[in-house]
Amino acid sequence: MPTSASPSNEIVIVGAGIVGLATAFHLLAEGHRVRLVERGGVAEGASYGNAGALAFTDILPLASPGMLRKAPKWLLDPLGPLSIPPRYLPQITPWLIRFWRASLPDRYAASITAQGNLMRFAATATQALVTQAGLAEHLRSDGNLQLYESEGELAASLPGWEARAREGIALEHVRGERLADLQPGVSPRFTVGTFTPHWQTVGDPYHYALALFRMVMARGAGLVHGEVVSLTAHAQGVQLRLADGKVLNAGRAVIAGGAWSRPLAKSLGDSIPLETERGYNTTLPPGAFELRRQLTFGGHGFVVTPLSTGIRVGGAVELGGLKAPPNFKRSEAMLTKAAQFLPGLRTEGGKQWMGFRPSLPDSLPVIGPATASARVLYAFGHGHLGLTQSAATGRLIADLVAGRRPSIPLEPFRPDRF
Ligand SMILES: Cc1cc2nc3c(=O)[nH]c(=O)nc-3n(C[C@H](O)[C@H](O)[C@H](O)COP(=O)(O)OP(=O)(O)OC[C@H]3O[C@@H](n4cnc5c(N)ncnc54)[C@H](O)[C@@H]3O)c2cc1C
Repeated sequence: MPTSASPSNEIVIVGAGIVGLATAFHLLAEGHRVRLVERGGVAEGASYGNAGALAFTDILPLASPGMLRKAPKWLLDPLGPLSIPPRYLPQITPWLIRFWRASLPDRYAASITAQGNLMRFAATATQALVTQAGLAEHLRSDGNLQLYESEGELAASLPGWEARAREGIALEHVRGERLADLQPGVSPRFTVGTFTPHWQTVGDPYHYALALFRMVMARGAGLVHGEVVSLTAHAQGVQLRLADGKVLNAGRAVIAGGAWSRPLAKSLGDSIPLETERGYNTTLPPGAFELRRQLTFGGHGFVVTPLSTGIRVGGAVELGGLKAPPNFKRSEAMLTKAAQFLPGLRTEGGKQWMGFRPSLPDSLPVIGPATASARVLYAFGHGHLGLTQSAATGRLIADLVAGRRPSIPLEPFRPDRF
């Protein structure tokens, strides 16, 4: 069997998405030798076409009492914000049971605390990374505006806003002139909004990831094109088997394979309930609308984001697994709604995309060692928030590699919590 010898101090990272790249950045900064293994194009997974939000204020787990209230109505609409293709129902049912359990009051509260900690750290870690990597020009700091169709809709979401406020998140409920000033041209059916000023966005998530990739390559990272099929840990290091029969040897490995990480953890004996929430969008040409900041239409499950490369309209959750082809009618349905909500939005010339969010039932990522060996670290399962939490995750993995006390308590993110 051909093997590629790696010095035992080398760390191999599986996956060159935004999480793998941010992890590479932090490990290189601490003097480690780093190689990324990627089977496709760099940052062409979920990190390619997401909504670009650094959603530091988004600390509520998806499995919330509010979400469970909305879910039955959403599920009735086949192109609505949440869908489960019937053929996938048997496979996703155990995950849905865990999801429901995660919404129970004590677990929900614990997840908010954990997510709050991670997000506060993410805000600091992101600023540090963009400064050190020279990526500050990719950031927009104009907040997010969530829009509601009635005072009743806002009232229903107040418990969630109060929970955020308790975690120190700045927010402002806005109406009338203030609302119109934050975003002119919204349909009058939206009468009230909530502005979160500390939410940021990147100019374009793919460009941001590529800039980080260029930075880590310039700092000495290596890149191997190949698909890792299994890992084995032993006393001196880790062996990674590739689909073409090659074997990579490393001192340590980090699994940052996004939605595809489950079988890799399984090869080490860990059964982690990772599923995918498929999301859809359309990116319209620049100038399709005069957008001042990212808008969230929470009742309809999508956002509209001003990017350097255009206006991106999308969101939605389809619990349909990794194999089924995309159903771009979902992208179209959100675009049709966006045109109603933002009269004047020019909908021609758009590019559709579907991506696989790597999702765990409690909306928290897995950050920590494999059960079999601390030489393999997991960094996946960031769901809707992988861009937001990438810098923080990279820093936490570097803490674990260094044997330092992690910057935040990692207990809630343990791989064996399920
Ligand atoms: C529609 C949509 C909107 C979103 N909006 C936002 C947002 O606004 N803000 C935010 O923070 N997050 C958002 N997300 C979520 C975010 O995109 C993901 O959480 C994040 O990109 C995950 O990054 P990752 O590096 O873990 O995974 P990925 O970007 O998917 O990267 C994983 C990489 O690993 C590679 N890989 C996997 N298995 C192997 C293997 N065995 N061998 C070799 N390589 C392998 C893959 O090819 C891939 O390149 C959104 C997602 C979607 C779908």
